[in-house]
Amino acid sequence: MEVLIVEDDPISLKLLSGTLSQLNYEVIEAKNGVEAWQILQQRTIRLVITDWVMPEMDGITLTRLIRETEMTGYIYIIILTGRQGIENIVDGLDAGADDYLIKPFNPKELSSRLHIGARILDLEQRLKGAYERMYELAMHDELTGLWNRRAFYTHAQSELERSERMVHALSILLLDIDHFKLVNDRFGHLVGDRALIMVADTIAKNLRSYDRAGRWGGEEFIILLPETSLNEAAEIAERLRIQVMNARLPVHVEDQDNFDDELRIEISLGVATLNLGSSVSLDQLFNAADEMLYLAKKQGRNRVCY
Ligand SMILES: [Mg+2]
Repeated sequence: MEVLIVEDDPISLKLLSGTLSQLNYEVIEAKNGVEAWQILQQRTIRLVITDWVMPEMDGITLTRLIRETEMTGYIYIIILTGRQGIENIVDGLDAGADDYLIKPFNPKELSSRLHIGARILDLEQRLKGAYERMYELAMHDELTGLWNRRAFYTHAQSELERSERMVHALSILLLDIDHFKLVNDRFGHLVGDRALIMVADTIAKNLRSYDRAGRWGGEEFIILLPETSLNEAAEIAERLRIQVMNARLPVHVEDQDNFDDELRIEISLGVATLNLGSSVSLDQLFNAADEMLYLAKKQGRNRVCY
């Protein structure tokens, strides 16, 4: 583990640096708070041992600066100083230090104190990991892995604002599996789920890096296509329709002499586009795509309307 030592006295620095190296820490050295602060901007260091009295920037100021600044991860700070007395200790801890040690230090004690720091940092890391996993789960549809409705909506809102600001086109594609109820009724929900996954995978395969797709509802999906004109979006929709139709889902049909068959899934799509320079609400854009989807259904399904 890396430790940043901040110490202006060369003898103290050498002593501390040697001790930490023996304890298998990777030591980075700074001669004062300013130098330490520069290093902390450039690299991720989680453990800092700092002297109090130093030229240019002292350890208390450095500690405050670290605490006041939004860093990517928590930095565990130990103040190691000749300044004794309860008043000083309180001031040091109040400034944001996690621990306070008085020179000359005892190597064994320092080692134990550093272990406390490492434990806290490990805990923070694991909490962060758990939070990130929960955040991912909360944003995604469990079955298909696509974004869920809420996550999609939030992203679409900012994308719409960006498109209006930049005067870019923005297209929305709403997609619904045709006769999905019949698929479920005839083949069961497991096959229904497989159909949903197949459609989601087909969508995901066709996304460009800046496109986003979500599961909008039961068998309904939605795709956001930034900087995409109505005609381009309609072409993408048509390509999806054909790919889904050709995918063929292997199914076991029990009522036809137990032979395996393939199920053809068909989809209808509605496309709507934010015209250059115009301003609409997200719901208006969704509604326009929804109307086109409704039209596609009405005209016989398995088609794109835009
Ligand atoms: Mg000093």
